[in-house]
Amino acid sequence: MKTSFIFCFIVLIIYSANTQDMPALVSPFELDNNYSVSHDEMLGFYQKLVDKYPQYLSMSEAGPSDAGLAIHEIILDVNPSKKDKLNLLINNAIHPGEPCGVDATMMFVRDILENPALQDKLQNTRLLIIPAYNIGGMLNRGAHSRANQLGPKLYGFRGNAKNLDLNRDFIKSDSKNARTFASIFHRWNPEVFIDNHTSNGADYTYTMTLIATQKDKLAKPLSRHLTDKMLPYLYKQMEQKEWEMIPYVYAKETPDGGIIGFLDLPRYSSGYASLFHTLSFMPETHMLKPYKDRVYSTYAFMESMVEYLAINGEVLKEDRATSIRNIGQQNTLALAWELDKDDKENLMFKGYEAKYKSSDIHGQNRLYYDRNAAYNKAIPFMNSYKEKLSVSIPKAYLIPQAYDNVVALMKLNGVEIQTLENDQVFDAEQYYIEDFETVELPYEGHYLHRNVSINPVVKKITGRKGDFLVQTDQNQLQYIMHVLEPQADDSFFAWNYFDGILMQKEYFSSYVFEDLAAEILANDPVLKQAFEQKKSDDKTFAEDARAQLKYIYEHSDHKEPSHNLYPVAKLSKI
Ligand SMILES: [Zn+2]
Repeated sequence: MKTSFIFCFIVLIIYSANTQDMPALVSPFELDNNYSVSHDEMLGFYQKLVDKYPQYLSMSEAGPSDAGLAIHEIILDVNPSKKDKLNLLINNAIHPGEPCGVDATMMFVRDILENPALQDKLQNTRLLIIPAYNIGGMLNRGAHSRANQLGPKLYGFRGNAKNLDLNRDFIKSDSKNARTFASIFHRWNPEVFIDNHTSNGADYTYTMTLIATQKDKLAKPLSRHLTDKMLPYLYKQMEQKEWEMIPYVYAKETPDGGIIGFLDLPRYSSGYASLFHTLSFMPETHMLKPYKDRVYSTYAFMESMVEYLAINGEVLKEDRATSIRNIGQQNTLALAWELDKDDKENLMFKGYEAKYKSSDIHGQNRLYYDRNAAYNKAIPFMNSYKEKLSVSIPKAYLIPQAYDNVVALMKLNGVEIQTLENDQVFDAEQYYIEDFETVELPYEGHYLHRNVSINPVVKKITGRKGDFLVQTDQNQLQYIMHVLEPQADDSFFAWNYFDGILMQKEYFSSYVFEDLAAEILANDPVLKQAFEQKKSDDKTFAEDARAQLKYIYEHSDHKEPSHNLYPVAKLSKI
């Protein structure tokens, strides 16, 4: 009896020691610096933190992924009594073969919870974390899919459960993951977004490189904020933390020939987020650096961002609000950009000399980077983009109710949409699709269109009861125009949402049409004259019977008005 009492007492002491003064939770990565957690290990780690710090940390299922398992959302708020905070959204494992962010964020969250000095920097910032976005890819663990990467010993696969690259899916949203992401993103409307990655490409000294949203796509106040304040701070902080950082090394050949700023189209995470005036970053750690360094430099980047927001959060909020206001007052909106090759700056770059030697495989010259020949010199950095396409901002767009799939996606992205309660006639502008190119092989599940040209026509159209009206006087203006203007790189037209219009539905038989064609010409002297003129000007045409009948068909009432007519109309008044 007495013995068992003492035993219970000892157990109680051990138990209370474990719960009240529990040692810091150690992540699997910290036990083995070349190991990245599995999805289950990751959730288990966060759950323990939630159990220990329920007042600051929560984890919930935000929505489905294509793999069936829910995508989790973690909210870390160390000052819950203050509601009006800045939101910093962090996304990990969009490419699960690049898992630095997964392991770094686990440690970062734990350290914030256990370190008052870190908490001081988060009094006005709420951290929102998608701990693993591409769950299907993360479950698909192996050691070989990234042939050019050193470690970790096990990692996930780039493709998701439908073999989609989720970092091309933000606009077309083929995956459940993308739809869940949109719901998280718009619930929080973050000021800043970080999407953690690992790079491919050249070899150089830096562990961390950075893609920031292309500055020239942003409204001026935010663009200036990014280039004048935020980026200089982040680069300096990273250097002080001994993780000197360089812009993402996107080179045509080798970095010493110059690097190019990345144009993050809306299909990519940062390009998508910037449509909503969110400053966005893709840190890209170098694939040939030890996994340990990649994880700790990712940690340092997130910490630097938190430090920046603690100092400059309020100014960022103001610049963002001004940007949204300014864009709303414009008459036109830029929708496409091209690199300004004449605008080069000098970037001090610590690289390895690119050299060539004979290949053991093919005997020809092969490139290698000589790690014994480091250099530090200025290289050209081309990071200016000029507008290639600017389009007038209408009062509203009218979307026929047949395209409710498009409308559903827009609603998911926070767009306010009205439904016509009665038939209504509008003065409208509509586009005929004049020309476009299409990729030869499926790209991310689509036959993506590009180089689209249009022919606008002005006409009266009748919106029917149940059709959708999208007014442009709203914060989502950039998103609305990027998806609805067919010439934009990532428009819904480009992603095949409107392909039905690209095929003629009725044709004619030559022998039946012959007599009718003669009648049409007899009744239309203007057309007849143009037809005769074309025959005398164009020898091939004059010898092609079918082409001549087609010409008359296409210049008659038989031509299908819906063929190549983009169904979304632009309204200058409603
Ligand atoms: Zn990546």
